Amino acid sequence: MREPAREVEVDRRREVPRTDAVLADPRLQAAAERLGRDPVKAAVRVAQQQVRTGELAPAEVADAAVAALPATAGGLRPVLNATGVVLHTNLGRAALSSAAVDAMVAASGHTDVELDLDTGKRARRGRTALAALAAAVPRAEAVHVVNNGAAALVLAATALAAGREIIVSRGEMVEIGDGFRLPDLLESTGARLREVGTTNRTSPADYAAVVGPATGFILKVHPSNFVVRGFTSAAEIPQLTGLGVPVVADIGSGLLAPDPLLPGEPDAASTLRAGADLVIASGDKLLGGPQAGLLLGTSALVERLRRHPLARALRVDKLTLAALQATVAGPVPPTWQALRYDLDELRDRTTRLCRRLGLAGAEVIPSVAVVGGGGAPELQLPSWSLSLPSTYAEPLRHADPPVVGRVDQGRLLLDLRCVPPSADEPLLRAILAAGR
Ligand SMILES: *Cc1c(COP(=O)(O)O)cnc(C)c1O
Repeated sequence: MREPAREVEVDRRREVPRTDAVLADPRLQAAAERLGRDPVKAAVRVAQQQVRTGELAPAEVADAAVAALPATAGGLRPVLNATGVVLHTNLGRAALSSAAVDAMVAASGHTDVELDLDTGKRARRGRTALAALAAAVPRAEAVHVVNNGAAALVLAATALAAGREIIVSRGEMVEIGDGFRLPDLLESTGARLREVGTTNRTSPADYAAVVGPATGFILKVHPSNFVVRGFTSAAEIPQLTGLGVPVVADIGSGLLAPDPLLPGEPDAASTLRAGADLVIASGDKLLGGPQAGLLLGTSALVERLRRHPLARALRVDKLTLAALQATVAGPVPPTWQALRYDLDELRDRTTRLCRRLGLAGAEVIPSVAVVGGGGAPELQLPSWSLSLPSTYAEPLRHADPPVVGRVDQGRLLLDLRCVPPSADEPLLRAILAAGR
């Protein structure tokens, strides 16, 4: 029984096309330019091995290698976010505007990030992005940008309270996700937390009672991913400003000015007007920009943070600065297009898709979308979704591009508000293919 099997194997080995012959395929040459030679060779080797095991015909090696190669060398795959969660943490929070993408591409080579082309001298890093941010929040005397909101907190705690105390309400000891807790983050800087009040109630007098020479600052944290209801009270910023120590407000989501759609979300301008000395926020939540930590406040505090040695370890890339400026000063980013999506238009678009699918198990139903990403936890945005049998979920995640929806009561819901209309065709093809 062994002999014939080995013969077949030997024959197949002879049939395996030579690597250099396969690599001469123009599609694979183009892929090598795009991705580098190694991943292309690796894909060819996998396909050759499939010929040896009889899974693939020898003539199909190049096709199989082409099909297995990704579109870009970046590794991260673009995904269609049909979850109805606008800022989905697992999908990278905010999607950038094309203006921000263009700005990043323009900044990706050598750029004047720290050079004044008029004088030929060194200039403030990212000065135009900082100026755009400052212009968007005129209340802020000065602004600074670091890697993310957590980095902004660490910089403030280190520069203003290392070896001293940060006063914070027990109702604001927040876990921000993936097991990371703000109290742990703050204490990792060498600052001590001075907890005041209770989970549900904290008064201005609670803060006043513990302010002293050891105080670095009072921290107000916006509980951006939960709400406490019932017998509750909290000290507001204007009630804390007279205590002789800085008030730092972590507003979380990065709204720069109040927005009627999100009445419960704090914004940087109002928080500064209320008397906060320093406001901390994320760049990739409701601002709709790149991952970044925004620091806005008095010149004295911002300058202390900017000159602290740790600031150098938290500084942002030129790509971030470019995308941030294009977000703050440029056209409305996808986050806000999704939040303000016209309901009739969304229903019509979803209905058109449903009709074209012509699937017995597909229908358009009212649904609910949310902000997500630790913002506006209570807000329910009325929405429309394409409802499909839940068996579509897995094949759609493996489509190209992958489509991620939300399974609800045994149905897969696809909400198009975060799917660019230009993706309707690939989405249609992906759903039809998933049904086969
Ligand atoms: C999201 C959030 C953070 C962390 O910001 P990142 O940009 O994710 O690092 C900190 N504080 C609050 C209140 C938040 O909502």
